[in-house]
Amino acid sequence: MLNPKTLQTIESYVPVLAEQGATITTRFYQILFQKHPELLNVFNKTHQVKGTQPRALAHSVYMAVKHIQSLEQILPVVELIAHKHRSLGVLPEHYPVVGENLTIAMEEVLGDAFTPELKAAWIEVYEIIANAFIEVEGKLYREAIEQPGGWAGFRNFVIDRKVKESDVITSFYLKPVDQKPIASFKPGQYVSLDLSIPGQPHNHKRQYSLSDAPHKDYYRISVKREDAREDSPAGIVSSYLHDDVQVGDVLPVSAPAGVFTLNTDNPAPLVLISGGVGLTPLMSMLEHTLEATPDRRVLFVQATINGHTHAMQERLKALSEQHSQLNTYTFYTFPTDQDRKQKKMDGEGFIQIHHLDKILSTTDIDCYLCGPTPFMSHIYQLLSQLGVAEENIHYEFFGSMEHLQKT
Ligand code: FAD
Repeated sequence: MLNPKTLQTIESYVPVLAEQGATITTRFYQILFQKHPELLNVFNKTHQVKGTQPRALAHSVYMAVKHIQSLEQILPVVELIAHKHRSLGVLPEHYPVVGENLTIAMEEVLGDAFTPELKAAWIEVYEIIANAFIEVEGKLYREAIEQPGGWAGFRNFVIDRKVKESDVITSFYLKPVDQKPIASFKPGQYVSLDLSIPGQPHNHKRQYSLSDAPHKDYYRISVKREDAREDSPAGIVSSYLHDDVQVGDVLPVSAPAGVFTLNTDNPAPLVLISGGVGLTPLMSMLEHTLEATPDRRVLFVQATINGHTHAMQERLKALSEQHSQLNTYTFYTFPTDQDRKQKKMDGEGFIQIHHLDKILSTTDIDCYLCGPTPFMSHIYQLLSQLGVAEENIHYEFFGSMEHLQKT
């Protein structure tokens, strides 16, 4: 419990964090990696370069300090981060290192405004925040080990099959090298890969959603190749997986994690809306729902650029032929003439409100979105305008934890 004086001091710090948070965390990561280059094996360097990780950390620190008296209010955010941390292998001993270097960054950025009184209050508050994360993460580590087929850290999996799903997405079927059972997962969850890539100075860890139903003897991930563009280099891990990793190769994989999971108790029609490679967790939800709750109505809406990028279309066609409770809809943002001739899509351009209005026969639905952030913001706004309740719209980011523009 904080004493009233410390509480008052820390409350006065909240607006400073709102304004200067990202500057502090940008400096923090510079100091951290200079002093502890080994931590580059844990954190995603690209997210630092692009500034998304410093912004995400700044927001988390701001939220935690703001709600320091009632951290349970931000439990969903804590759990989301804790799942990611557990899949990356973040441990209790990392927290003092982060705390010490965050404090140094605050001193540097704020100068005299970071008074000894404020510094003491911040250190006390950081300990409370760190302990809250350590506790939640400890529980997740225990669960990961104790569940049947579970493990902590990384376990070696061999690539059993590599299947091209479209010009840009390829699936990898992963089986454990030890041939022992593998932990089940909730549809929507992801695994982290820990890759040592030839020519790279440190390991790269990335998350990939599991794209098939649970309870198989393999995990499937489906990866989009991030090609180089004028203003950005090719993605390190996705290019490596597509171009270099072959059947028989071994990859270290974390146990499944993540809070973007299907609510299997909700009987309302399930609406899955994907943009691009965002279809991966939704395919898992779809496959599982058709197996586990065959009476539940399901709408699967897939937006992609054109027929060349249209992944898993054969599987979706087969599923909708086999299951009368499933309706699938495809939107091509920029269809080719060939796509138009073959009438492969239900609509072209961006999904508009009249499309969703026509597709949804009720707004009493449970809806899951995954795709690029602007796509999800757009769909979220359309669903809200149609009257779908906020608590029935769930979404997953494939980058650092960001924010949806909801209005
Ligand atoms: P990176 O090297 O990390 O680069 C990412 C992007 O940043 C690229 O477009 C690159 O061009 C750009 N970039 C890099 N450096 C710069 C720079 N200096 N300036 C400007 N731009 C730059 N991906 C999937 O394909 N399938 C999934 O199912 C999937 N599930 C995910 C689930 C979760 C929960 C999360 C968090 C992410 C998921 N991702 C998924 C994304 C995945 O983790 C990787 O981020 C993605 O594969 C890109 O990694 P990369 O190493 O290839 O690219």
